[in-house]
Amino acid sequence: MAWTSELVVHDEAIRANTAYFASATGGRLMAVLKADAFGHGAIAHSVLEAGATSIGVTSIDEALALRADGVSAPILSWLNPVDADFAAAVLADVDLAVSSPVLLHAVAQTAARLGRRARVHLNIDVGMAREGAPVEAWPALCAMARELEHLGSLHVVGVMAHMSCADRPGHPQNRRERLLFENAVRTARRRGLAPSVTHLAATAATLTGVAEGFELHRIGAGLFGIDPSGTSRELLPALSLTTHVVTSREVGPGTGIGYGLDHVAERRTHLALLPLGYGDGLPRAASERADVLVRGRRRPLVGRFSMDMVVVDTGEEEVAPGEPVTVFGPGAHGEPTVAEWAGWADTIEHEIVTRVGSRVARVHRTSTTETTETGRTTQTPASTRQEAVDA
Ligand SMILES: *Cc1c(COP(=O)(O)O)cnc(C)c1O
Repeated sequence: MAWTSELVVHDEAIRANTAYFASATGGRLMAVLKADAFGHGAIAHSVLEAGATSIGVTSIDEALALRADGVSAPILSWLNPVDADFAAAVLADVDLAVSSPVLLHAVAQTAARLGRRARVHLNIDVGMAREGAPVEAWPALCAMARELEHLGSLHVVGVMAHMSCADRPGHPQNRRERLLFENAVRTARRRGLAPSVTHLAATAATLTGVAEGFELHRIGAGLFGIDPSGTSRELLPALSLTTHVVTSREVGPGTGIGYGLDHVAERRTHLALLPLGYGDGLPRAASERADVLVRGRRRPLVGRFSMDMVVVDTGEEEVAPGEPVTVFGPGAHGEPTVAEWAGWADTIEHEIVTRVGSRVARVHRTSTTETTETGRTTQTPASTRQEAVDA
């Protein structure tokens, strides 16, 4: 067995989190699997089995990769440039979120050429000046969509928006955004549209209850045990990053470690070299702050992180090449958590889990099987993915 670094994906945890949100939303759960399922890889079938009824992704490419993987549930793709492959999306029954007349026109024209009706969710900006249509442009966008519905090239099946401050339930912006969204839905209906689903809430809004009463909840982070609101006790982290010692050595006091010799050993100690660096997703900003778990004990990473390697100070213990090291995990055995890593790097958990690089093998662990993915799945067609199962 090679001493590879592994990102172990705990499928059972993702299933449990999915079941929790399926129940909390009364079954109105769209699983958001963008960015390679927040770095967790091929888990679409698991979340659908565990209670999600549809899937949301950012790009059409991500949606098509799920279709190629045999996902037949509804899929929504919400961010595409005007020259995206809308034809492929329409032919694969992928719903498209649209936020501007230019995009609406491009989608409708493509569908008309194919003799199909595109399934569209109109996306309104209720406060964060990001991907939705500006409020001032909304009535005209609705009117244009209605006209294109008449012409037969699209069907508005949904209206959506995304909240800016839902992780702070007491923030006055939440009420403002909710009211704007309700108004937007009313405007759409008054212009003759009949969306069957309206959706505003993501993980934080669902956990804090600031966006109740709509047909779908788009849940990403929460499925992976990340709670942006810090209010839930139910969610389980779903990743462990492990590696193995390459070499170890004893050094004397005054030994400088790593680029710039930022770290200097104070006393005689042992150093172990780990084959992971910022090129594999360890945030360089966590240099001189982070710990890893070696032989059941927390040990500090010392010196600046390099692209391909970091050094751990194992104190009086000399560890052997090949010994396992846990970089992060759910925390049950004393290992650092993703949340701790996020703190060390002054970032959020989302960034830690989505950045683990392609040199790290993905291993899906359920209670009975293990499946290995080589490389990242978003860019890799399902048919070329190597899968190995061992019981
Ligand atoms: C990422 C994203 C979500 C999911 O948000 P979480 O906080 O991860 O649940 C929902 N909607 C949109 C538009 C998104 O971009």
